[in-house]
Amino acid sequence: MVIGIIGAGASGMMAALAASLYPETQVILFERQARVGRKLQATGNGRCNLTNIHADNSGYHGEDAAFSQFALEQFDVKTTMEFFRRLGLLTVTEPSGKVYPYSDHANSVVDILRLALKKENITLYTGFEVEKVQKSGSGFAVFGADQQIACDKLIVACGGLAGTKLGGSMSGYKILSKFGHKVTKLRPSLVQLKCSWGGVVGLKGVRTRCNVKILRDNALFAESTGELQFTDYGLSGPVIFEVSRDVCYGSGAWIAQLDLLPDFTRDELLQQLYNRQKANISGEELLTGILHNQLGRTLVKAAGISLNADTSALTQAQLQGVVNAVKAFEIVLTEPMGMDNAQVTAGGALTKDFCPETMESKLVPGLYACGEVLDIDGDCGGYNLQWAWSSGYLAGSSAGKECV
Ligand SMILES: Cc1cc2nc3c(=O)[nH]c(=O)nc-3n(C[C@H](O)[C@H](O)[C@H](O)COP(=O)(O)OP(=O)(O)OC[C@H]3O[C@@H](n4cnc5c(N)ncnc54)[C@H](O)[C@@H]3O)c2cc1C
Repeated sequence: MVIGIIGAGASGMMAALAASLYPETQVILFERQARVGRKLQATGNGRCNLTNIHADNSGYHGEDAAFSQFALEQFDVKTTMEFFRRLGLLTVTEPSGKVYPYSDHANSVVDILRLALKKENITLYTGFEVEKVQKSGSGFAVFGADQQIACDKLIVACGGLAGTKLGGSMSGYKILSKFGHKVTKLRPSLVQLKCSWGGVVGLKGVRTRCNVKILRDNALFAESTGELQFTDYGLSGPVIFEVSRDVCYGSGAWIAQLDLLPDFTRDELLQQLYNRQKANISGEELLTGILHNQLGRTLVKAAGISLNADTSALTQAQLQGVVNAVKAFEIVLTEPMGMDNAQVTAGGALTKDFCPETMESKLVPGLYACGEVLDIDGDCGGYNLQWAWSSGYLAGSSAGKECV
């Protein structure tokens, strides 16, 4: 029995390894790029945050997020880590729960999978773009530019549209649509946010710990604490990725309210400013030693205080204004960056047409899908790769079992 798998990314490679455990199967893995795991190599800033020990169903989204539960329980985080350990990958778990390869290089994850794929019953075609798939008897005909290959079962593991420069495309959605599967609206998620405040230009590159509240028409929409990075167009960094899902969609005024000193209370900051006032310093230095200098100066100016001001003359109301700028700085958001920059696609092939226990299509027997092409996306911090591993393993082993 031949199992064809379209896409040698995270979920496709995992599906191939799972299917190959059934010795009667012959697995054919099609990858249109020159090598496997191109996107995987770029994950986690080149470090690959391959899972998160806290990952469970609550960190996933989609029209029916509960769909992900079975796969995530069947091939859970512990099983995933054991699986990689058996392949030879050493990992390290950070206090936050994020898991990285011990080498700190995403290449280690790609290479350990690439080596594991070298099995008698797995054939890998790189540089093979699947252009068309047709039903052929009880199986499928897979068409490349100049080749046609027959498969008994087919797994679509083409990934999503996010990260277009790394291989994100519409391909998987198109293949599934041809078989009657519906695809939701696609949106970028885990993505930077653009803003209308010109002040960010001067802060480009500044990183700081921050609590971010996303307000929509003054109501709290999302909140997170972590590292913020200013860019010349807006806001980036893990804390922004975490709150970015669905921001700036639909009507309403979207505001990011930044607490740039989240580990200190307003009173503690005010007391600090009183102390600084006694030190005979200018406005420019009022927040020196408290925040990044550039950020401090920007906030002092935003509070209406001249950088040349004699701080000993500042009133309590003026100091409160500085506290407010530091603890509740408001920036108007305009739109998320596009799919090129997004780490994951929110939306995808509707999961109601797939069986959660096998990942098999309910519309076309023998057709399976896994990974980001489905309407499941996870939180920041290893959740999306865990979904790729779990759903890939389930799709591969279900298709393999069918072949026995
Ligand atoms: C910059 C960046 C950083 C990220 N960092 C993290 C992180 O640290 N942790 C985390 O959990 N998630 C991270 N993600 C998300 C994660 O990488 C994806 O969710 C995950 O790779 C999805 O796996 P997949 O197998 O569904 O798709 P992919 O890994 O994208 O693989 C799909 C493969 O299919 C191939 N393909 C597509 N169409 C065809 C076709 N027609 N014929 C042949 N081949 C085809 C593609 O070339 C690709 O290799 C990051 C994403 C990006 C873009």
